[in-house]
Amino acid sequence: MQETYQIVSKIQRYDPDNDRSWIQNYQLETGRILQFTDLFRKINKELDPTLAWNSSCEHGQCGTCSVKINGKPMLACELLVENAVVHFETTEFLIEPLTIAPVVRDLIVDFDKAYERVHKIKPYIIEPVANPNSGNEYKIAPGHLQRYVDATRCINCFCCATACISSHHNFLGPNAIMASVVRLMDLREQAKDERKTLLYSEEGVYRCHTSRACSFVCPKEIDVAHFIALAKSGALESDA
Ligand code: SF4
Ligand code: SF4
Repeated sequence: MQETYQIVSKIQRYDPDNDRSWIQNYQLETGRILQFTDLFRKINKELDPTLAWNSSCEHGQCGTCSVKINGKPMLACELLVENAVVHFETTEFLIEPLTIAPVVRDLIVDFDKAYERVHKIKPYIIEPVANPNSGNEYKIAPGHLQRYVDATRCINCFCCATACISSHHNFLGPNAIMASVVRLMDLREQAKDERKTLLYSEEGVYRCHTSRACSFVCPKEIDVAHFIALAKSGALESDA
């Protein structure tokens, strides 16, 4: 494994002041364990302070640094240069913003707009049931939790929604569906009928074409398509 690489980053730029888009090439020598967020930082520091991009935790937990790299939606903070070279078999990378919302500038998209679809599905417990252990935490049996605990790892990075071709055709999107699936499987949710009305609406789960692109790109390794298939078959609810 090399210690450094000559990396060519071809970055999709957008200047909202002039409504102008273009691809800009940046060539840099980088260390092999640099994350792509560090690569952007290095470009800002050494080549171009005007390049705009998003990140927050840089530990794969907040989902704000999602971009498309050589066509695949992923978290920039989780991709190391050496892994990218192996994965894509190249040292040239086309880096573009996600396609789930309008671009604000360069790699930054309007996440408020993207979240409108998630908010539609009510990503919270609409009506909690009374806690049988009043005054203590609500206990859910491990066997029940096991059925959907993977789904709770979603960080709303919108990688799946970007990869999902149905997201561009009036589908709320895989991550929005996941937000509903988690609450439908949660024993603390009482408003199951309201939830199902949203889930099986015109924009709901039947818009999915089962391509499984969502599962393929999910950085949290959630089998999103599996949960969507459960929703389609009506097999989400069960007793504790
Ligand atoms: S399986 Fe369904 S939700 Fe997932 S990417 Fe394909 S169409 Fe979209
Ligand atoms: S399901 Fe996976 S890819 Fe989709 S938003 Fe959640 S964490 Fe991201």
